[in-house]
Amino acid sequence: MSLPAKRRSRSEARRGRSHQALKKVVLFKCPKCGKAILPHRACGFCGFYNGREVIKIKLATKKGKQ
Ligand SMILES: [Zn+2]
Repeated sequence: MSLPAKRRSRSEARRGRSHQALKKVVLFKCPKCGKAILPHRACGFCGFYNGREVIKIKLATKKGKQ
């Protein structure tokens, strides 16, 4: 088992912790279906990016195997 070699001062510890904040998630609206999507990525719901369908989306409702 390894232990910290030296005790960190209060200010050192706090300064390090100042970088631990979480970033706010950036959300975009799909121009086609209006769902919230990540920017610069194809929409996971309709597969559209930059005005055209770039990925094929399988239907969520499964009606038998095809
Ligand atoms: Zn979409």
